[in-house]
Amino acid sequence: MSLESVFSLPEMLEVWQETLNWQPTNDQQNQLQKLYELVIEANRYVNLTRITEASEFWEKHLWDSLRGVAPKQHFIDSLHPGASVIDIGTGAGFPGLPISIIFPNSQVTLLDSTRKKINFIDSVLTDLALINAKTIVGRVEEIGQEGKHRENYDLAVIRAVGSVSACAEYSLPLVKKGGLAVIYRGSWTKEENQSLENAVHHLGGEVELIDEFTTPLSNSIRHCLYLRKVKHTPVSFPRPVGIPTQKPL
Ligand code: SAM
Repeated sequence: MSLESVFSLPEMLEVWQETLNWQPTNDQQNQLQKLYELVIEANRYVNLTRITEASEFWEKHLWDSLRGVAPKQHFIDSLHPGASVIDIGTGAGFPGLPISIIFPNSQVTLLDSTRKKINFIDSVLTDLALINAKTIVGRVEEIGQEGKHRENYDLAVIRAVGSVSACAEYSLPLVKKGGLAVIYRGSWTKEENQSLENAVHHLGGEVELIDEFTTPLSNSIRHCLYLRKVKHTPVSFPRPVGIPTQKPL
């Protein structure tokens, strides 16, 4: 189906049903659509996203955020009721805000180093009455060394924040032993496997699954990398601010 031929919300939801074998409840649909409107409104003042057209937003922000963790996917066991989730470098709230809408029983922490983006998310949490989410302004290299966050989350998600080894170093220290980190990527090459395996090994994780898929309207290639935490992460990780990108593992 081409982008031009889709967008009425019912058609979009059919696409979700076909591709995810699931669709949001009516209340959740309304919240997702309201989130779209709030992002577009705020985008006039704060640079939040270049994706502004409705069907593209529903595909590349909403569907994409949820594809990695959607109900009925086999890895969803990490989102049991009460599961703690952290979205690292959440930006305008992706994938963390859709996750908090769809999983009201989870506890979602949205982290970003940019105050303006977190201010926007705080206003969304109020407007959508999302009581299961909270925000933190900070650098993940520092948050990952704080006792109340380190190895505290069942699930860490991270989309479009840096190289794969930096994303592994940002996310795995925050995950509990037995929990999961999901790195959302666009393209992925076999050559990148080696640097991923190497980084993950240093951080107490294992690569559980590299899931390749295409987005349902524009057929763009995506990958989700599922990293299982199997051992405690050595205290030296994450390294100080800037080092994970300057000296990749
Ligand atoms: N995850 C969102 C998405 O996919 O739409 C936003 C991606 S945006 C390209 C990257 C975000 O990561 C920015 O908002 C930036 O402020 C944040 N970021 C980058 N490095 C960070 C760090 N070390 N700690 C916390 N946030 C960081």
